[in-house]
Amino acid sequence: MSVSPLHLVQQRIADAATAAGTAAPRLLAVAKTRDADAVAALAEAMGARTPRAVGENYVQEAAGKIPALEALEIEWHLIGHLQSNKAAQAAMLFDWVQTVDRAKLVPLLAAARPPHLPPLQLLLQVNIDDESSKHGCRPDAVPALADLVAAQPRLALRGLMAIPAPQADDAARRPAFAAMRALFEALRSRHPGVDTLSMGMSDDLEAAIAEGATMVRVGTALFGPRG
Ligand SMILES: *Cc1c(COP(=O)(O)O)cnc(C)c1O
Repeated sequence: MSVSPLHLVQQRIADAATAAGTAAPRLLAVAKTRDADAVAALAEAMGARTPRAVGENYVQEAAGKIPALEALEIEWHLIGHLQSNKAAQAAMLFDWVQTVDRAKLVPLLAAARPPHLPPLQLLLQVNIDDESSKHGCRPDAVPALADLVAAQPRLALRGLMAIPAPQADDAARRPAFAAMRALFEALRSRHPGVDTLSMGMSDDLEAAIAEGATMVRVGTALFGPRG
């Protein structure tokens, strides 16, 4: 009997959560480069138990898929770098934006969030260990950026996101995730509505869950290698 990739990923998540003694984190299916049919098939397999969460990296790519899949009631997350000139479009298309990393984006997202939609759910992307990467704010910039978001009624501050530099094994992966967990706890003591720590991907979700991830973002392990 064959086991689907979705079941394997759900089992890895459940096993890691059991090992860590925590509740299983949410699964965000990362759909970059996958066509609408592939996303629809996966969303259907995910079932309707929890809101089905799907992540996209590019606003332009998502603009084609999101309207085409409207009937599936997917919760859409932007997980790619957000350019300022795409902020207004992102605020109209997505339910969540996980990559807020600079103050300039905050008023742009707030102003463009349509009044008939719920507040846009936001995570701050933190550059936790990769100083060469352009994306993500410095850890010490989190409190001020969080306060800016929290002051906007059209935006809801939900937590933090990170993409740590790749490492060879779980022992080497854990320090960056642990540092994120510490930042997350500090943020939560200032902003009680914060509940989401988005970290861990196909190769490192176990280490992320061991350090307290509440959402893992998985592409390759669900859809196969990207072409
Ligand atoms: C592509 C991507 C993922 C998923 O990575 P996989 O290794 O394919 O699971 C997660 N998060 C972000 C921000 C990504 O760009």
